[in-house]
Amino acid sequence: MISGTCFCNAVKYELSAESQMQGLCYCTDCQVVGGSAHWTSYAVAPADFHLVAGSMTAYTYDSGSGREVTRHFCDTCGTQIMVQSDALGVASVNAMTFDDPAAFNPEIAYFTDSAPKWCEINPGLTPFGGE
Ligand SMILES: [Zn+2]
Ligand SMILES: [Zn+2]
Repeated sequence: MISGTCFCNAVKYELSAESQMQGLCYCTDCQVVGGSAHWTSYAVAPADFHLVAGSMTAYTYDSGSGREVTRHFCDTCGTQIMVQSDALGVASVNAMTFDDPAAFNPEIAYFTDSAPKWCEINPGLTPFGGE
């Protein structure tokens, strides 16, 4: 089972399923929130994400496509743990918080149109989505 921990160790979670979609998201929302060229997305069904310690703050907004998205952050240190879209039935978990980093094997590159000019996108990733 995959487990993860936030930066300050307050939030701990477990995933009760393996992901069928692992990728890097280059959308501008992920860039602003994370201070990085991309988000490391390990997508599972929302019901497969289990918070086992700590608490999270939720921020819900319209993603621009008419779908509500909720980003969940550790209450104490602010690490973004998970991005949830009930419309899509997806919980995109921050793979950089995995206790075992080897559990993340990205295959998809989301929204590469908005990738920063200075970053190189791994040509081995399959592009998905656009502006
Ligand atoms: Zn924390
Ligand atoms: Zn994104």
